[in-house]
Amino acid sequence: MSDPVARLHALWGEIADLSHVSSLLSWDQETHMPRRGGAARAQLMATLAGVRHAKLVAPELGETVERCAERAEPGSALAAEVREARRILHRVTRLSERLARAKAEAAAQGHEAWAAARAARDFALFRPALERLVALAREEAGLLSRPGDAPYDVLLDEYEPGARAADVARWLGDLRRELAPLVAAAAHSARRPAARAASGSFPRAAQLAFARDVAERFGFDFERGRLDEAPHPFCSGFGPDDVRLTWRCDEHDFRPALFGILHEAGHGLYEQGLPAAWQRTPLGDAVSLGVHESQSRLWENMVGRSASFWRWALPRFQETCPGARALTHETLLPLLHSCEPSLIRVEADQGTYDLHVCVRFELERALFAGELEVAELPTAWDEAYAATLGLRAGDANAGVLQDIHWSMGAFGYFPTYTLGNLIAAQLFAAARRELGDLDLLFERGEFRPLLEWLREHVHRHGSFYSATELVERASGKPLSSADYLAQRRADAAEYYGV
Ligand code: ZN
Repeated sequence: MSDPVARLHALWGEIADLSHVSSLLSWDQETHMPRRGGAARAQLMATLAGVRHAKLVAPELGETVERCAERAEPGSALAAEVREARRILHRVTRLSERLARAKAEAAAQGHEAWAAARAARDFALFRPALERLVALAREEAGLLSRPGDAPYDVLLDEYEPGARAADVARWLGDLRRELAPLVAAAAHSARRPAARAASGSFPRAAQLAFARDVAERFGFDFERGRLDEAPHPFCSGFGPDDVRLTWRCDEHDFRPALFGILHEAGHGLYEQGLPAAWQRTPLGDAVSLGVHESQSRLWENMVGRSASFWRWALPRFQETCPGARALTHETLLPLLHSCEPSLIRVEADQGTYDLHVCVRFELERALFAGELEVAELPTAWDEAYAATLGLRAGDANAGVLQDIHWSMGAFGYFPTYTLGNLIAAQLFAAARRELGDLDLLFERGEFRPLLEWLREHVHRHGSFYSATELVERASGKPLSSADYLAQRRADAAEYYGV
């Protein structure tokens, strides 16, 4: 009988390759595909997904994983591979082909219905498709749940393996309790950032040159990555040596491009730091969306919005981009730390962002606990916004129809954004304890020590540890909301005097 480990690597390698081909096609679709290529591209993607699915459910793969399990020493890389492979196979093999196909069809219809409902600003047009998606997700949660799981645990597990709804509820509860009064106090503060400071003339080429320069200085390797324009900023990696970032540009406001690129570069630094030796095995990928998001938010917010970073960056920005010459530290920094309630999550500032996540998490959890029906969502949404942020949407597009996630059947995704914030803050605090005065380094444009610390404690481990273990080992304590809330309080004191 052949060596099961070699066989596992051969089988898994093909599956990983197929995933990378699919992401490459998606990247191309967003950046280069001609407008009318959509139908042909959908066909290619469906074929690839079918081939990949067949390889995952093939009995030989499951048998090979179990043969590997018999010889895996506890704590070894092989044991971690078996754990990851079993987790992924559990999800794939428990779902019947009928349910998998029904989910894919419902997501395609859901997306169309959502777009039509947005065009008409009318939730009723989306409601039947959303009811179907929720029913299928409830069925899926029932099939995949293990003893002791709540339905929401199962949904969350797809994006944040091992996370429990009860923990997420506790962390988000902390944030709601502490952030809502800070936001209210900031709204009554006499200090307000001047929004006009960010507007001016910022030519596309100058913005690109500056942001590329900063990303490179952070450590993003353009020999192993690239940056292209697309309607939405994102990052996709096909192994550490080929990582693609996208950006979009507003020539009258420099913030979307710069902070978008710094955010995606943070994702890209993680992808470029994943362990080369474990590529094409179950341990080669990022461990969870929350950890991935922690890397983007750390570079975007904790580095890219810090006063010390701007002491290094502002003169450079002004040199590259004449529109930036009117900016001063005094006008710029309050603007980068604003805390103003708003209705749209993707445009929300750092001070209020997590409250948007709280609303979605609570609604989703109620939906899957059977306490809320889809028909009640628009009213529940508006009431939650009024209670949490003190605002009411004028129409459904600024309310319950604003996010794309539910239209694709992605339930349990939103909490990963806030987990990213919590993990980033906890890692940043740990790095600061170990590396000393990071501000002194940032002022000199030195970001490599921080990157090396993240490489050592996060990136190089791939999926060897679970996200929970990884965070605890890197920061010396289990994940909590404490470090992140300390940052929020410090910002409110510094910029709003509250
Ligand atoms: Zn992100």
